[in-house]
Amino acid sequence: MGLIQRMMTAIVSEETAALWEAETRQYQATCKKCQHQYDAWDIGAIIYKATSDRHALVRCPACGKRSMTWFDKRQQPDN
Ligand SMILES: [Zn+2]
Repeated sequence: MGLIQRMMTAIVSEETAALWEAETRQYQATCKKCQHQYDAWDIGAIIYKATSDRHALVRCPACGKRSMTWFDKRQQPDN
């Protein structure tokens, strides 16, 4: 867990922290350099009820290269 995640989840209930993690894990990106797929939680971010800008300069957890990345919300299964 990243520093921001530790600070944020420390001030809310376990239930809320779990909600944040579940929501954040729905946002995924693919590294342009090595094609590694990861979610926003993996890189220490919290995305909760995000409405607009999900662009961020992130460091790939696999290859360590920084790049501007767009997090796509994972499609929910129909059933
Ligand atoms: Zn990478």
